[in-house]
Amino acid sequence: MAKSWRVFKFGGSSVADAACMRRVADIIEGEPAGPLAVVLSACKGVTDGLLDLVSAAERQEPTAPRLAGLRQTHLDIANQICTPTDAAEYAKELDAGVADIERLLRPVAEGGSASQEVRDIVSGYGELWSTRLFARSLGGRSTRPVRWVDARDIVEVQWGPLGPAVQWPVSRERAAAIVPSATNETLIIPGFIARTAQGVQTTLGRNGSDFSASIFGDVLNASEIHIWTDVDGVLSADPRRVPDATVIDSLSYHEAMELAYFGAKVIHPQTMAPAVTKGIPIWVRNTFAAEKPGTLICAAPESTHAVKGITSIDAVALVNVEGAGMIGVPGTAQRLFGALREDGINVILISQGSSEHSICFAVPEKDSERTAQTVRRAFAVELRDGQIQDVEALTGHSIVSVVGDGMAGTPGIAADVFGALAGAGVNVRAIAQGSSERNISVVIDGRQTTRALRSVHARFYLSPHTISIGLVGPGVVGSVLLEQIASQAPRLLRDFRLDLRVRALMTSKKMLLSDQAIGVNGWREKLGAGQPVDLEKFADHVHADHLPHAVIIDCSASEKVAALYPRWLAEGIHVVTPNKRANSGPLTLFAELQRARRAGGSHYLYEATVGAGLPIMQTLRDLRETGDDIRKVEGIFSGTLAYLFNVWDGSESFSSVVKTAKAKGYTEPDPRDDLSGTDVARKLVILAREMGMQLELGDVALEGLIPPALVGVGVEEFMARLGELDAPMLAKLEAARARNRVLRYVGALDAASNKATVGLVELEKSHPFANINLTDNVVRFVTSRYDQNPLVVQGPGAGPAVTAGGVFADLLRVCSYLGAKI
Ligand code: ADP
Ligand code: ASP
Ligand code: MG
Repeated sequence: MAKSWRVFKFGGSSVADAACMRRVADIIEGEPAGPLAVVLSACKGVTDGLLDLVSAAERQEPTAPRLAGLRQTHLDIANQICTPTDAAEYAKELDAGVADIERLLRPVAEGGSASQEVRDIVSGYGELWSTRLFARSLGGRSTRPVRWVDARDIVEVQWGPLGPAVQWPVSRERAAAIVPSATNETLIIPGFIARTAQGVQTTLGRNGSDFSASIFGDVLNASEIHIWTDVDGVLSADPRRVPDATVIDSLSYHEAMELAYFGAKVIHPQTMAPAVTKGIPIWVRNTFAAEKPGTLICAAPESTHAVKGITSIDAVALVNVEGAGMIGVPGTAQRLFGALREDGINVILISQGSSEHSICFAVPEKDSERTAQTVRRAFAVELRDGQIQDVEALTGHSIVSVVGDGMAGTPGIAADVFGALAGAGVNVRAIAQGSSERNISVVIDGRQTTRALRSVHARFYLSPHTISIGLVGPGVVGSVLLEQIASQAPRLLRDFRLDLRVRALMTSKKMLLSDQAIGVNGWREKLGAGQPVDLEKFADHVHADHLPHAVIIDCSASEKVAALYPRWLAEGIHVVTPNKRANSGPLTLFAELQRARRAGGSHYLYEATVGAGLPIMQTLRDLRETGDDIRKVEGIFSGTLAYLFNVWDGSESFSSVVKTAKAKGYTEPDPRDDLSGTDVARKLVILAREMGMQLELGDVALEGLIPPALVGVGVEEFMARLGELDAPMLAKLEAARARNRVLRYVGALDAASNKATVGLVELEKSHPFANINLTDNVVRFVTSRYDQNPLVVQGPGAGPAVTAGGVFADLLRVCSYLGAKI
């Protein structure tokens, strides 16, 4: 049996330039042999350019430069993808068209207005030029026969109030005559253009090439129609407004029609009619990713989604006709809509209360004035007699529609739509639900459209465990954290539907806000080219109202950032941090953090403030919450100081050990930050507060290792004079040795006496703190349960990977508090 025709339609963006046309040719040649009808749009922007030309002529502006520009665009493509001979032949065709357009525009410029006929003929050149060019190029490289077919010789339409009506019998007859049977041919056909019964060129309306494709589907008895465009298929929402929009795998004709009518620009609503009648399946596919499956539109698709897509129509005016005079009066609606139809006003949506007291409808904003006049004229008597109130068309609205066959008979969809809108603070002005229950449409303030789309979309399409993450301070720890999150995110999404999205990064100078998850690749460059820091904007972006949860992770060491936690927590943003500043700051700030956390119902976790990834805070919390009585906590809390005293045996000077540690990156850039003991004191304060002790940083009895003379000098001078530490340190070491002991820098908390001490102590060689490795931290909890034999946590307490791991664990803990089943 001979193979049947398949119709491919490539939109303007698919044939925008030479590279695009080559790609289209590759797709066509990659197809199995068989009859193929290829409908093309004009190259991107050309139809607009041609229509602008007509408008410019009407305004008596010069048109020659614009026309020359359009000509050159095509010629440039031809020179790149055709043989020189073909390009030269093509140039002649092009010039004939240019001359024709010049001839048509002359009287327009003289008369100041263009007829529809002129507009149709001029705008139709876009498709003529793109197809002639492509047919030459493909003919030159294809092994199969390629034929350019003039759509005007086949498609006849009659324009009426509902748009172009295809004259099927004659169009089918002509098709049969021109394309006798399904051969191995590849036909190249201009979309958009057609002819009237009078033989005059006309168009199928803007974006009409989709319609052309399905008309050819019918007249050629095609088995499939493929609409090739620049997105992966029909998406659950307009990707330019809803960044999370996902590809819908299949749609029914009705769903697709509804989506198209209510604004999904990817496909023209009229496309469906011929396909529905003949039951031809339509695929929507991506020219730029041909390997992807795309969306299948057919009569009875298999799908489990009740809601398929969320769309919007902008620039809508809302008209309310209201008055006691309408109650129980038959024929009011008919009079109203009859008058509007006579004046050629397209009503997009109607909503009538069952009291019949009012009828509300939406029209395109551009018709708002005309609409009000028409209604006033139609109801002049009722208005005069006060039976209806004055009619106003309120501009600045938009319609958001939720579409899906499965909505019929599924309870709760409307509640979800309105719940989502209410949650995002979107006020609904009018509602319409078709009795098919395939569509719920709401009229809202136009300024809230994107917010409305995103919130409704999130309700139906996102995992309830979608976490919007903002990272402050992507430095040593933060950048490793980004890598860790990126490496685990796919698994967490697959196994637990936990969707972790890092959507914002901020340093002290720049910030990067992104709607998509920021991956590990290239973020540094993007951040470098990012916008100036605006803390409020940063938090607002992370706390996006279309995403269920927000977490800010602060990997900076900044006090300024820590001061913002209460505000974030109170707003419901969860905070995770290894930054010690907040919890070791003034007790007033600590109390404020607790209050804000409770007020916002948010979580605040900071495991990595002490001992990096070691389970210290969590252990303490568990002990406390299970009713254990914590008496003492002591330990070595500084990886740097642990290293110095583990390594230094007196055979070399203390200063040279410090220098080696600095060179290995074990110390802060200014080693005094470690040697002063302040860092350890901060950690003690954090632990103390977790135990319920009321301790300020100033209350810690702190014995640092820096002689007073070196406290105030610059880093370089400090490093140069480091040797001044050697004699006193050696004296301490030798004294300890004399007693067969070792030196360790220890922090200790005693609950009974409410005391905290930090300093260098002598310990027996058998003491657990005397036997740790390199930068290990070790913490000993003495509690009523762990009394004679204390609980000890020990292990590496510093380093980017373990610290980031601790932060990540906190993040996952927040997620599980939020209901993720990890
Ligand atoms: P073409 O040039 O191929 O005809 P269009 O620009 O007419 O392409 O339509 C494709 C565009 O439609 C996409 O790039 C996308 O931005 C927009 N669009 C709007 N709503 C949707 C939707 N629901 N699904 C897919 N694309 C959509
Ligand atoms: N070129 C026409 C337009 O831009 C038709 C189409 O591309 O579908 O409206
Ligand atoms: Mg299109």
